[in-house]
Amino acid sequence: MRSSISAAVAIFLFVGPAVAAQNFQTCVANLRDQAVKAGVSPSLASRALNISRPDENVLRLSQAQPEGKIPIWDYLSFVVDDQRVADGRAMMRKYDTELRAIERRFGVDRHVIAAIWGVETDYGRQAGDSFLPHALATLTCEGGRRAPFWRGELLAALSLVERGDIELDKLKGSWAGAFGHTQFIPSTYRRRAIDFDGDGKRDLVGSVADALASTANYLHRAGWRKGRWMVEAKVPADYRGPSGRKRKGTLDAWARRGVLRADGTKLSGGTKAALLLPAGPRGPGFLVFRNFDAIYAYNHHESYALAISYLANRLAGEPALRTPWPTDDRGLSRAERMQLQKLLRDRGYDVGEADGRIGPATREAIASAEKKLGMQPTGRAGEKILRALGGNP
Ligand code: CA
Repeated sequence: MRSSISAAVAIFLFVGPAVAAQNFQTCVANLRDQAVKAGVSPSLASRALNISRPDENVLRLSQAQPEGKIPIWDYLSFVVDDQRVADGRAMMRKYDTELRAIERRFGVDRHVIAAIWGVETDYGRQAGDSFLPHALATLTCEGGRRAPFWRGELLAALSLVERGDIELDKLKGSWAGAFGHTQFIPSTYRRRAIDFDGDGKRDLVGSVADALASTANYLHRAGWRKGRWMVEAKVPADYRGPSGRKRKGTLDAWARRGVLRADGTKLSGGTKAALLLPAGPRGPGFLVFRNFDAIYAYNHHESYALAISYLANRLAGEPALRTPWPTDDRGLSRAERMQLQKLLRDRGYDVGEADGRIGPATREAIASAEKKLGMQPTGRAGEKILRALGGNP
């Protein structure tokens, strides 16, 4: 058995890459034809799809194992830290005129628009550097179940260049095709992008005004109506009532179940809201309104919509969460994560660049350090390991 498997693998290694390369080139040639049939000029199709082998980086990222379920407090500590709030307030001052004009036109609160910008690309600083035509051709020609989706996104991306919205070399973004200041995928760009600065182009890469207005347009079309999105709430410690994004009730009804605002004031009125308890009744609670569902439409994860909602509240001047998360090992901000990575590096661990991102190398280093210190090896970047290594959280 063993030798026959080895033989099979040897044959695959010998024949595989050459066949794969040829298949890839045939697949890309087909994509060029399809693009031209869809109205893309032959010269643009060949410039965009001048690629002879798959983009290795995109393959690696698309095949990476998800790191499993991250505790909500880790995710929120990372995404909504004091630095993101301070940077967001500075960017809101810088783009005050544009944000207010966008808010007037679409009725979407400017703090929420700024929060999406902050979470998606750190206010435009991290929009991704994968060349979309190559990334999307790689994903299409890899032939997985989602190939038709990726092909559709590729054709949509090229049509944006063809119609003059954006130059080809600006099609740079995430490995999965999201790009621009607020990370639209090409098909969403085609449907929802707006020229807000009036230059005749819908440029979500080069124009902050276009990108933020397009985001507001998206939220408006997803059902946003003037009003609140989320308020922190608290429930009695023995609460066993309903919760969940789809279980909506009036504020009066929630009040009858003992739910209060986190500052202790009473809820009242007929406005509909749902109660989220992402860490159970002992952690922070959130009453979320209709507009929360519009944010959820942007990226279908409740933790994402909570991060946007919470950052928007902070940008609007509200305090940090009043109820602590039910953990004795809270998550770390980006600055604290970098501090942790530097401490690990000082001790000889290979963590790559100390960039605050907790990838496989950092997780491995944390687990080894924990073991050495006689702690349970978790690989998680929390306050305990930071303190144990002499850091100052
Ligand atoms: Ca424009």
